[in-house]
Amino acid sequence: MKILVIEDEPELADVLVRSLERERYVVETAADRPAALLKIADHDYDCILLDIMLPGGSGLDVLRELKALGKSGNVIIISAKDSLDDKLTGLDLGADDYLTKPFHIAELNARVRSVLRRKALGGSNALTAANVRLDLDDRSVTVDGEPLALHRKEFDMLTYFLLNKERLVSRGSLAEHVWGDHADDSGDLDFVYSQIKNLRRKLKQSGAAVEIQAVYGIGYKLVEQ
Ligand code: CA
Repeated sequence: MKILVIEDEPELADVLVRSLERERYVVETAADRPAALLKIADHDYDCILLDIMLPGGSGLDVLRELKALGKSGNVIIISAKDSLDDKLTGLDLGADDYLTKPFHIAELNARVRSVLRRKALGGSNALTAANVRLDLDDRSVTVDGEPLALHRKEFDMLTYFLLNKERLVSRGSLAEHVWGDHADDSGDLDFVYSQIKNLRRKLKQSGAAVEIQAVYGIGYKLVEQ
């Protein structure tokens, strides 16, 4: 997943980049309007964080250009301006979400995940990999159409893996997403091991054609077999 941060305040840009990289996204930056226009013309991004007040012009122009290029999706506007006009114009132009500065990084991470999730889901509310289908509405899982019973945390873990299919998930971020922000404060993530073990066993027993691979020293990756 590749994210472009368009932000001219170096300190904020730096915080955004570091926190998004911790979430294992690939992050690029642009600090003014001309640089942003070059980036969006040359590359595709899964998500763009867009500041409105930029040197050399408005972020809304960048959004217009994105739309003209047919790349208008997955934009989160981050702006100090909280005027309703800007917000409505941004959303009208195809922005997916809007965050007013200052915001908490956890809030931003949640918005990014939500935007990416909507993209991954393509409008439906189910996640799939090989013969596994997970329905977020009724919190059910099927393998080849047969129900698979999972405990709550197992379900949450599988959701997170499916949202990050074929992508490295660190144990810390898995713990944070499934057990909450303070999960890794203790530094002891052994409970993740045992839950992963249970989830793997259930997937295997049900004939699921996916595998949760361990990436030594880092975390896990869900792959289709
Ligand atoms: Ca700015």
